[in-house]
Amino acid sequence: MLKRERIRQTLQQTKQRRKNQIPVVYQLKINLDCASKATKEKLLRLFLEAKWLYNYIVADVDNRLNDDAWKLKEVEIKVGENLERRKIENLSSQMKQSLVERIRWNLYALHKQKQNGDKTGKLQFKQHVNSIPLKQFGNTFKFVNRQKTKVKIQGIKKPLRVLGACQIPEDSEIAKAELVRKPSGIYLFVTCYIDRDKYTEAWEARKSRKSVIKPRVWQTFDVAAGIDFKPAGLVLSNGLKLEWQIEETKRLKKLQRQLARQQKGSKRWYKTKQKIAREYERLTNIKRDVINKTCSLLYRYKTVCFQDDKIKGWKDGYFSKSVHYSAVGTIKRRLSDSLRVSTVAIKSSVPTTKTCSRCSSQHDVSLSERIFRCPVCGLEIDRDLNAAINMLKKVVGLDRPEVKPVEWETAARIFRGNPYILVSHTT
Ligand SMILES: [Zn+2]
Repeated sequence: MLKRERIRQTLQQTKQRRKNQIPVVYQLKINLDCASKATKEKLLRLFLEAKWLYNYIVADVDNRLNDDAWKLKEVEIKVGENLERRKIENLSSQMKQSLVERIRWNLYALHKQKQNGDKTGKLQFKQHVNSIPLKQFGNTFKFVNRQKTKVKIQGIKKPLRVLGACQIPEDSEIAKAELVRKPSGIYLFVTCYIDRDKYTEAWEARKSRKSVIKPRVWQTFDVAAGIDFKPAGLVLSNGLKLEWQIEETKRLKKLQRQLARQQKGSKRWYKTKQKIAREYERLTNIKRDVINKTCSLLYRYKTVCFQDDKIKGWKDGYFSKSVHYSAVGTIKRRLSDSLRVSTVAIKSSVPTTKTCSRCSSQHDVSLSERIFRCPVCGLEIDRDLNAAINMLKKVVGLDRPEVKPVEWETAARIFRGNPYILVSHTT
């Protein structure tokens, strides 16, 4: 049989098999403490060479992006004003091939954007390349032992120790991986295909395991809720209040002061910079957890309504304004995209803060005033809660709801594990 035919046949077989499989990505951490200095350097070199290769091709796409691009053994890089030659020694040809493919994809995406009428420039140079595709399991990477604690990566002589491979089910089909560099270390993201029925089987077995894990019930609340977003939290129309305390840590502030003192470009400066990057990664992880947990609570409502854009008054001295702001944006987007909950966005022109939620008269409230006082009916209420109730009234026409015990319990259960979220009740 011809080689080409053989390849086509395998491709077709894979396609058939994939129909009954589920892709799952596992994140494994490479344990660099056990690796020798030479191995570590080699590993980091991969990312550097990937950057060189990427930028070299991007610099002259028309001539350099051809079918032989992956055979490049030497590239030119810009050092100051001059061009210098650098050898590509550690990247295997398969890695190069997939990097070249990535450039093609980026070009294609750019082209699509242009078709949609967006303004696009050329493909940009990269300051860092932080991920390297490893396309073929068994070739670019493989597990050396049965316990999957050691992984061999093409081009690196010694196998590397990895943590977390025990998550990969025994009989799953490992397809590809990606070598990812983060401030906290180097990770291997492994994509596996698991048979659909086996996947559900394992899940059922896990659910019915006695006493260890109780079968989980997705608790829903059969009511609607209005949400008033703040820079660092939100208030629901039933009085449930979430506050996020993702703040610049003392350590981060100290490191930033240290960085300012050090000479730019020196060894110590780079070291501090890396430490700062790690702190930021930690903050990002916390933020992601906050977003996931908050959405998990909000998904349980029947309908949620919130105001489209309300950024005014958000300029108090929060460091993490940007952090929190993007968190609110992500939550809003996720809610709108989700099929689990119906969402209603209220126009920002609707005066939700000015209106009294009991008698509907309107009064101006200054931004510093945390409590809304109505001179007509004498209502005294938290201003954010007042706004949230107005949103609910506007959409569903309901009056002020109370927090039900089940909502309380669920909120307590969801946020139990995260000390950065404060749950309280306002009236
Ligand atoms: Zn009133």
